[in-house]
Amino acid sequence: MGGAVGNMVRTAAPSGQHILKGIPASPGVAIGKAYVLSVESPSITHERIEPSAIVDEVAQFRRAIETVTGELIHAVELARTESSTVSTIIESFQLIVADPTIINNIVRRIEQGTSAEAAVVNEFDIHKALLYNAKDIYLRERALDFEQVKERLLSVMRNNELWHAAAYDSILVAGSITPHDMLLFKQTRTLGYVTEVGGINSHACILARDLGVPAVIGIRNATGEVPMGATIIVDGFSGVVVVEPDAETLAQYHEKLVRAEEYKTRLGSLIGMPTVTQDGHAVRLVANIDTPEQVDVAVMQGSEGVGLVRTEYLLIQRGRYPSVDEQTEWYRDIAHRAFPLPVTFRAFDVGSDKFREGIPHHEDNPALGLRGIRFLLYRPDIFRCQVCAVLRASAHKNVRLMLPMISVMEELEQARYIIEECKHTLALDGVDFDPRMPVGMMIETPAAAMMADSFAKHVDFMSIGTNDLAQYALATDRTNELVADIFDALHPAVIRMIAMVVDAGRRHNTTVSICGELAGHAAATELLLGLGIHELSVSPALTLQLKHRIREATLSDSVELTARVLRATSTPEVYALLAGGRS
Ligand code: PEP
Ligand code: MG
Repeated sequence: MGGAVGNMVRTAAPSGQHILKGIPASPGVAIGKAYVLSVESPSITHERIEPSAIVDEVAQFRRAIETVTGELIHAVELARTESSTVSTIIESFQLIVADPTIINNIVRRIEQGTSAEAAVVNEFDIHKALLYNAKDIYLRERALDFEQVKERLLSVMRNNELWHAAAYDSILVAGSITPHDMLLFKQTRTLGYVTEVGGINSHACILARDLGVPAVIGIRNATGEVPMGATIIVDGFSGVVVVEPDAETLAQYHEKLVRAEEYKTRLGSLIGMPTVTQDGHAVRLVANIDTPEQVDVAVMQGSEGVGLVRTEYLLIQRGRYPSVDEQTEWYRDIAHRAFPLPVTFRAFDVGSDKFREGIPHHEDNPALGLRGIRFLLYRPDIFRCQVCAVLRASAHKNVRLMLPMISVMEELEQARYIIEECKHTLALDGVDFDPRMPVGMMIETPAAAMMADSFAKHVDFMSIGTNDLAQYALATDRTNELVADIFDALHPAVIRMIAMVVDAGRRHNTTVSICGELAGHAAATELLLGLGIHELSVSPALTLQLKHRIREATLSDSVELTARVLRATSTPEVYALLAGGRS
């Protein structure tokens, strides 16, 4: 699945078929008519208003605030049944709309002779600009929240209501989309989303996944490239959007859709069934989670544990480094919900495109800077707090700790030293913890992959982070839509590195799993089996699809296919082999 067109760059085929490449944001395939939300907004007049018009303009603004507040309350209600993540996001919109400083500033501007529309634009643009200049990518992406609330207020003031029902059964193509609109479009059975705004942390990404709607983001000028009403295909597995597909492509994707639908109906019956290939090769499926609630979903879907807790989400939620007690409570909650299944807490992967609090100064290349373990060793106080909290949560022996972004042996040695120090302190304080808590490492830098043979002797497990491994191996920023056509974990260089790591693990009897997006990539399952991977960690929503694919495969065919893939020299060649392998 996912494949033959998986790595194509923008081309115009003679038939009129037009392929756009973006960032895969939510898995699945959608075929339908495009409903394009135009990004043009009428210009705002900055002429001063008459003093006699001030009262009406203030009233117009206040009515708009009331309407948008009402819409958001409605959206939170809808979100309750759809997704808990969505309601958190909408709450952040509510905070903006209810912010007394923003409201007072806008009213003051109107009272000084600015029109209501211009006052809204001026005030929101200041907040947006401040956030756009923030070092932290999460803050930068919150600038979009201000833009979206501003646009909403303006449309309400102009009585421009978005007619969600107009997009019934179609694929929405937009510059960006607000969570509220996304929910309303979902009610009108929108089949998929395509947006211009990229960024893996954008709300569009998180929401689309939560709502289970296929989405591709980060396609520049998508609203200009896709005509209203055109037939389009959204391939949320590979990040490809096909505009006006030719008959052959359409047939290929229709077949994929039919298979996807069949999957869905059969998937439920797979809960509780073993994850084994047709020829008896067993694989462990575990989950990637960000919040305690997701553990329950993972367990319900039949995950055999948690392979990755991205603990940075705790930092993003709180906006700071929580105390040992706060962290302990959060880790215990997760460990208890999963018990007796194992849970792997990854130490804070701070830096780069993630939470950046505590990084001493601006870095020109943050992805190559003080990130992951480097930051933790730079701030051992923060690292110690976290290690102690994870150890405190380990008393029932279902907790493991994983170190992010290791690239040199000294980092592992120093980290292990600090972990031992923490154990010593806790033991002196009489705290109950698991003295044998397994400690593993992410393999997500090319250096770690090349040296996996040395690392394997010193860790209890290794987990390959294919997102970063691809980013660093191919020197492509994983969040940058300008190079999205190069960034692909199915590049032969990445596959060969995975093979090296698996080999190292086998030699030293160290478990190797994959927790990057490649683990759940529909095109990659047989390849990963053939490479000898025994554990895959994926978003809970993907567990059953992945189990189904594994149960359909045979290890012997997978090994044969993998041997061919390992000789490939380009990503398209890999996709072609994988597509052939499934027929
Ligand atoms: C990865 O890099 O593949 C990974 C799982 O870590 P993250 O996506 O959190 O960087
Ligand atoms: Mg990573």
